[in-house]
Amino acid sequence: MIHVKTFYFNELRECTYVLWDETGECVIVDAGAETDSERRRLTKFIDGNGLKPAALLNTHGHFDHIMANAFVVQTYGVKSYIHAADNEMLEKANEYGNLYGYRIEQPPSASGFLTEEQPFCFGNSQLQVLHTPGHSKGGVSFYARDDKFVLTGDTLFKENIGRTDLRGGSYEEIMDSLRRKLMPLPDDTVVYPGHGKATTIGEERQYNPYVQ
Ligand SMILES: [Zn+2]
Ligand SMILES: [Zn+2]
Repeated sequence: MIHVKTFYFNELRECTYVLWDETGECVIVDAGAETDSERRRLTKFIDGNGLKPAALLNTHGHFDHIMANAFVVQTYGVKSYIHAADNEMLEKANEYGNLYGYRIEQPPSASGFLTEEQPFCFGNSQLQVLHTPGHSKGGVSFYARDDKFVLTGDTLFKENIGRTDLRGGSYEEIMDSLRRKLMPLPDDTVVYPGHGKATTIGEERQYNPYVQ
């Protein structure tokens, strides 16, 4: 069974998730810890619970989700993975960060690319990769079917959806991702988004004005 810990990091209150199972192996999803104290909170949780990081997974390449990629990779010696279509944002993190007035430590290059064909495995667990573009070209969601949850990055939020006015964004694409990839999931699937509170697919089906 996969356990989920949520952190809210940096000025944009980005959600960083630590997922782990009974083996003690964990993955970090979206490393947005900006300050030293945020980074200490993250490592204290991982080390304090005796977890062993197996990888860093990125739902997409926006700067608020990758601010601590360099820190996590250096601290734990893990490999990082992103969808190929968002790799340019990772490679040019400084440039993109500067646009918004942030100085980003250059994230290490991805060790591999996420695709729908290949589930990501850690410990005894498996995450299905759903390509959910629209907020960015290479946005992905991580779906844990047995444990009934999905990490949606900035594609689906509680009663909202991600911006589509940034580079690589597309309203048609995000609506298509929601319609074809996320909303068909069972109603009791817990949604852990890239910002804000968790919700469920059923609640969003009922209350989210974008997916009625
Ligand atoms: Zn984003
Ligand atoms: Zn974000």
